[in-house]
Amino acid sequence: MSVCLFCEIEEKEFWGSYFCVTCKDIKNISKVYSFQKSLDVLRKVCLRNETQLDNNVKRELEKK
Ligand SMILES: [Zn+2]
Repeated sequence: MSVCLFCEIEEKEFWGSYFCVTCKDIKNISKVYSFQKSLDVLRKVCLRNETQLDNNVKRELEKK
């Protein structure tokens, strides 16, 4: 079976499909909330700028 066209890692859900199970869920959730809103959430929650990364490092170092 071939790989998902979105993540290019997992196998497609079934023959003739384009996506794996996880990416199909991501697509369906994005369709409900809009792709732009989903992208905004991913950028806001998952991506960190330099200041945020520095703060994470400082916090980890303070724990020790
Ligand atoms: Zn996938």
